[in-house]
Amino acid sequence: MNRLWAPWRSAYVTGSGGNNTECIFCSTSEPDCASLILVRGTVSYVILNLYPYNNGHLMVVPNRHAPNLATLTAEEQAELMRLTRHAEIALTEAYAPQGINVGINLGRAAGAGVLDHLHVHLVPRWNGDTNFMTAIGETRVLPEDLAATVKKLRPIFERLAREETAATAETAKAAENKI
Ligand SMILES: [Zn+2]
Repeated sequence: MNRLWAPWRSAYVTGSGGNNTECIFCSTSEPDCASLILVRGTVSYVILNLYPYNNGHLMVVPNRHAPNLATLTAEEQAELMRLTRHAEIALTEAYAPQGINVGINLGRAAGAGVLDHLHVHLVPRWNGDTNFMTAIGETRVLPEDLAATVKKLRPIFERLAREETAATAETAKAAENKI
């Protein structure tokens, strides 16, 4: 149960091994990682967790190897929150969860799985999912494979990005007309 109720503890997105000394969030160009990326912003991206705690478990990550919120630029702060908002919308639309854990673990003592590269976890939750896990023991059963999750979520993120671009253009146009 420790595993489940520390949903942020294991943030590994690659099982490839052998390159454990490298930061996994800095090496997303590797094919097995790239296939898990749901959307890329300007200074950050959204990626599925390779070992999800529930279907749809994803992370919002700045491109830069930034260890905490204190070192984020204004642009990174804004986009991280913007993509976290998109993630909430996408997960709600795709999975209709009864709740979502949104969290950041800073440092080993806080349970960070990947140290020194900030990431925001979003884990969809359903009433009783912890009880269900008790019943089946330590093994996590995830009925959906990650490719299916990507297929479901990626188009929603792409649509949200398009809608946002359109809204920004609309706002700029309106501002122009006022002058
Ligand atoms: Zn990094």
